[in-house]
Amino acid sequence: MTEIAIDESNDLASVLDHGFVRLDDVMADDLSVVNSARVSFGKRHEEMEDSDYGLISYLMKFRHGTPFEHNAFRFHVKAPIFIFREWQRHRIGSFNEMSGRYMELPGEWYLPQEDDVRTRVGKPGRYTYERARYRDAINFNARLRESCEESYRCYQNALEAGIAPEQARFFLHVNHYSEMYWTVNARSMMNFLSLRVAETAMWEIRQYAHAVEFFFAAMMPVTHKAFTENGRIAP
Ligand SMILES: Cc1cc2nc3c(=O)[nH]c(=O)nc-3n(C[C@H](O)[C@H](O)[C@H](O)COP(=O)(O)OP(=O)(O)OC[C@H]3O[C@@H](n4cnc5c(N)ncnc54)[C@H](O)[C@@H]3O)c2cc1C
Repeated sequence: MTEIAIDESNDLASVLDHGFVRLDDVMADDLSVVNSARVSFGKRHEEMEDSDYGLISYLMKFRHGTPFEHNAFRFHVKAPIFIFREWQRHRIGSFNEMSGRYMELPGEWYLPQEDDVRTRVGKPGRYTYERARYRDAINFNARLRESCEESYRCYQNALEAGIAPEQARFFLHVNHYSEMYWTVNARSMMNFLSLRVAETAMWEIRQYAHAVEFFFAAMMPVTHKAFTENGRIAP
């Protein structure tokens, strides 16, 4: 896993240049997996026992998925709009996002660091990405910065002229920052992590997925271990 910068309160991970993943609230532990599986036999454990580690691994391996649904993670996320476009494709979960119809969006946009500007090489289905030449990266960033600044000026001018925010926002780019709340259970989160931590996912969403995984591992360490040891496939 990538190094994640976690703040002192241990509930906020900084991501990209202005983004974050903050664990807003949580109802999740490994015992909930154990007890929702053991209810089949009318059994309940007050704390994790030796056999419970094997049970979680068994459930993961043989894809008995529903015991991993009796928990909830609520995240507050700040990310560029293009990330949310991918993230919100994950239907098993709940989303609420900042509205560009009702408020003036703050002037913040994502600019990749020079080292993170990349070229695409290879054929469809087998693309790989390589670091762009330094000069090209510098030019790209400079032009992108100018373009974002200019588009944000146009946005503010349109608002001042009385254009409705829902149309004034047409000036803004997909790298503009937005915020959302995302509530998800561990089973759906593992599907998200399986797809979005993978090398095939876009580098920027992978950084967010690493942050989500940090909180998952902290709250449900046994489940997280079983997930990683069984091929990172959601049960
Ligand atoms: C690398 C990558 C590239 C992608 N490229 C594209 C692209 O080019 N174009 C594009 O449109 N999307 C693309 N996607 C998005 C992708 O198709 C999925 O929409 C997204 O990853 C969400 O996955 P999911 O459906 O498994 O998750 P969720 O929507 O959270 O669903 C979780 C699981 O619930 C079940 N499920 C949910 N809804 C249904 C349903 N209606 N019927 C049956 N089972 C259901 C499935 O088992 C599913 O895996 C890409 C995703 C990745 C990771």
